[in-house]
Amino acid sequence: MSIAENIAAIRAEMNQAAIAAGRNPADIQLCAATKMNDADAVRQAIAAGVDCCGENRVQELTAKSAENAYDGAPVHFIGVLQTNKVKQVVGKVDLIQSVDRMNLLAAIEKEAARQNVIQNILLEVNVGREESKSGFAPEEVTGVLEQLPNFPHIRVKGLMAIPPISQGPGENRRFFQEIYQLSVDIRAKKYDNVAMECLSMGMSDDFADAIACGSTMIRIGTAIFGARNYAKSHQ
Ligand SMILES: *Cc1c(COP(=O)(O)O)cnc(C)c1O
Repeated sequence: MSIAENIAAIRAEMNQAAIAAGRNPADIQLCAATKMNDADAVRQAIAAGVDCCGENRVQELTAKSAENAYDGAPVHFIGVLQTNKVKQVVGKVDLIQSVDRMNLLAAIEKEAARQNVIQNILLEVNVGREESKSGFAPEEVTGVLEQLPNFPHIRVKGLMAIPPISQGPGENRRFFQEIYQLSVDIRAKKYDNVAMECLSMGMSDDFADAIACGSTMIRIGTAIFGARNYAKSHQ
């Protein structure tokens, strides 16, 4: 199947999941997780109507930007971001989805202030409380939001979560529900510079469950581009 056909199939499934949950399909965005796919593949995905692209690696973001790969769609950063690389990301992406620690928040603030820009971000939540994953623990998030007055060049647009690898159909729903509830609780507190409008959760294997639980953005790689060839990236 072509990239365009894959995207059409995903859109159909997104619509179905939204309607089944009593939600408006227009409230859910499709972010193409473009890691390890080249500029041409990215262009095909944008032409087929993805809402945005998400890159994991600074090097790929920089290279594909230079090739104008993202023309016509917003680009987000969704991977682990080292503080020494924030210069290459702040002001260059519409949203940094993967803000997972306080010192990264501080580094983004410093660079955004230097550029005199406002940087939109999501806080990444380690919803499964896994050692191996980055992100704030769910119970840490409100404490982070309370410190936002120290970061005037940052706007929090919502939360991003990568739950544990699913053990079976429906297994991750409790994690998606926990993130949704967290966003509802945060919204009720009406923090300055915080809009809980984006809940980025759901990937190729579990996006229908994520939509059922309130996701507003799914990040899809494999189901759009096919399996990634990890061997090739080490050439
Ligand atoms: C690769 C990646 C995805 C997409 O994963 P698939 O299972 O291939 O759909 C989503 N989010 C992040 C942060 C990723 O790195």
